[in-house]
Amino acid sequence: MLFETMVKDGYEQVVFCHDKESGLKAIIAIHDTTLGPALGGCRMWPYASEEEALNDVLRLSRGMTYKNAAAGLNIGGGKTVIIGDPRKDKSEALFRALGRYVESLNGRYIIAEDVGTTEEDMNHMYMETDFVTGSTAGEGSSGNPSPKTALGIYYAMKRTAKEVFGSDSLTSKKIAVQGVGNVSYTLCELLNEEGAELIVTDINEEAIQRAVTNLNATAVGIDEIYDVEADIFAPCALGAILNDDTIPRLKVKAVCGSSNNQLLDIEKHGKMLQERGILYAPDYIVNSGGVINVADELSGYNETRAVNKVKEIYTQIGKVFDIAKEQNIVPAIAADHLAEQRIDQLKHVRSNFLKTEHSSISRRGK
Ligand code: NAD
Repeated sequence: MLFETMVKDGYEQVVFCHDKESGLKAIIAIHDTTLGPALGGCRMWPYASEEEALNDVLRLSRGMTYKNAAAGLNIGGGKTVIIGDPRKDKSEALFRALGRYVESLNGRYIIAEDVGTTEEDMNHMYMETDFVTGSTAGEGSSGNPSPKTALGIYYAMKRTAKEVFGSDSLTSKKIAVQGVGNVSYTLCELLNEEGAELIVTDINEEAIQRAVTNLNATAVGIDEIYDVEADIFAPCALGAILNDDTIPRLKVKAVCGSSNNQLLDIEKHGKMLQERGILYAPDYIVNSGGVINVADELSGYNETRAVNKVKEIYTQIGKVFDIAKEQNIVPAIAADHLAEQRIDQLKHVRSNFLKTEHSSISRRGK
């Protein structure tokens, strides 16, 4: 069964990790390393079953291959899931045990933070392996990725505005924002600085008040956000919010936000948006600023270089819109094509022999 899935979707390696003393039960999936070492976060979640955990790590690692490739990174796709409750089951020993498994992969996979894991957990793994990003322990850490994710969304939104309105200025544009958390508050600050008009909602009253008081935002109810008349809708809280129920209610010209997996069904809901004249900026390119920032650690973190690379999301989103027009497909599918095209082209570039990539041959010759 597992091999069937691996063959069908091209997975390279799946590693099951167990440590009796600490109770570690984790799965590392490496989807594709054509472009470089696999990089992807470590999610800790109380999965109801092993099957659920396996499905999640497979789905997420494949997603990272596409995200990293489309962002123009020389990085492959991987992910880790730990089966456990992050509020109860964490220990130094558990993360150090996982760190040793990561080390055993000898750089084929580099781990990072994700839902349920923190900088402290990365620090514990760093005691056992160098193949970890986002720790404070190592020199050259890139720190909290959220501000860079926000910056990337801002540039994606500008390019989206250019496509729809003919200018990338967001001054006086009305932006409806769902969720004003870590990423989105910074995004709202950038939008406010440029003179955009913000309409926000959140389940957290304090988060709303902060945006209303500091950024002159107008607050609406949680469900009302779908009915707001605005230029752009920015989903920054939940996945699957573009669906049969919500799309007919939208009164915007474009969607561009931080949430992962915004379309419930990529084909169907991608088309539904298009039919209504709403341009969808594909989520995994829009929100790739965080991974672009963390990937910079692999070259010795340089914030200026990382920020410049994050700003290139503007160009990448433009390429997606161009592919969508040329091939008459929806932007979400065009994003996949952009990623697949890049992997395919570079596979061939890297096929010629280079001695430095085959050091075992020189060793054998000695
Ligand atoms: P966060 O938890 O800080 O922010 C989410 C906000 O949404 C919170 O304020 C929360 O109260 C609010 N919210 C939750 N349910 C809501 C609902 N039903 N209606 C309205 N608001 C609701 O998370 P974040 O780090 O800002 O991430 C936001 C989204 O962006 C997530 O989907 C995340 O996966 C994605 N993302 C984040 C990063 C990053 O760098 N943090 C990178 C890529 C993608």
